[in-house]
Amino acid sequence: MRWSYSASRSFRQCQRQWYFKNVAANARAKDPFRKRAYLLGKLQSISAWRGKIVDDVISKTITPNLNRGVCVTLTDATNRARVLFDRQLAYARQHPLTDLGLQVSKAGDDFAIFHAMEYEGELPKHEIERAWCEVETALINLFSLEDISLILKSSGYIVSQRALQFTLMDNVTVLAYPDAIAFRNDAPPAIIDWKVHAFGTNDAWLQLAIYAIALSRCRPHRDFPSGFETQPQESVLYEVQLLTNVVRKHSLEEEQIVEAEEYMLSSAYEIACLTEGRKYADLNVEDFRGAAYEETCQRCAFRAICWEKSHVY
Ligand code: SF4
Repeated sequence: MRWSYSASRSFRQCQRQWYFKNVAANARAKDPFRKRAYLLGKLQSISAWRGKIVDDVISKTITPNLNRGVCVTLTDATNRARVLFDRQLAYARQHPLTDLGLQVSKAGDDFAIFHAMEYEGELPKHEIERAWCEVETALINLFSLEDISLILKSSGYIVSQRALQFTLMDNVTVLAYPDAIAFRNDAPPAIIDWKVHAFGTNDAWLQLAIYAIALSRCRPHRDFPSGFETQPQESVLYEVQLLTNVVRKHSLEEEQIVEAEEYMLSSAYEIACLTEGRKYADLNVEDFRGAAYEETCQRCAFRAICWEKSHVY
């Protein structure tokens, strides 16, 4: 079983949602139900989508250029974001989810599908306009953050959205995707998590602590600095709230590392006890508890198949 921080949150919020995303969804399955679960899992809220556009501009445009010693200007970044924004919007409008033949990889960077289109039948114009304003604000703020800019520009090498894997316990592999890891020649690595949240009140220390543990325990990728090794408490952790322009710097004490390890173990154990290593064919959706709050269902990407299968309420 693969465990991730986001899967653990999904499981605690609604076990059934976790089941659809992590067990039932399968892009290559012939079973239309599993294919539909896979595509439903790709639905995004408009706010998550605008955050992903910002993430993509940072990880696919700004970071690779910095690694080559080329500075990207705010205008370049905003132009790239606008291209992604318009192309993904056009793709989503032309591809309702009734088409089970949608090929995510073929669409590449143009791919986007929306929760609002699937469940409300339209994309509210004012929300799309606000999403673009927030993309612009996030990028303007990014370019104004001098400390973060200095870390990125002075790094020897930056990797973005790289999978870090390690074995947590029998049959459980942890998978972590930090937004950015900046390897610095004369300083410990910096792990950065970009957040594009309207309120930015969440404290992401636990998520960042899990990334720091993963960086210390994973097998280094081939492009990591030669002989790279680190301890979780050595990494410098930054939670960068790009809409509110707040940067939270976290450093880990021993007790926080223990707390993060206990969180991973207890969550993985809880999931493993319910699934007992069984695969899709041997599991039944009814074995998984539904959400406690109706608001969770309103936001849920899998509502269509969940409510077809059973009466949750
Ligand atoms: S619709 Fe509700 S109960 Fe069903 S998977 Fe989603 S959150 Fe869970």
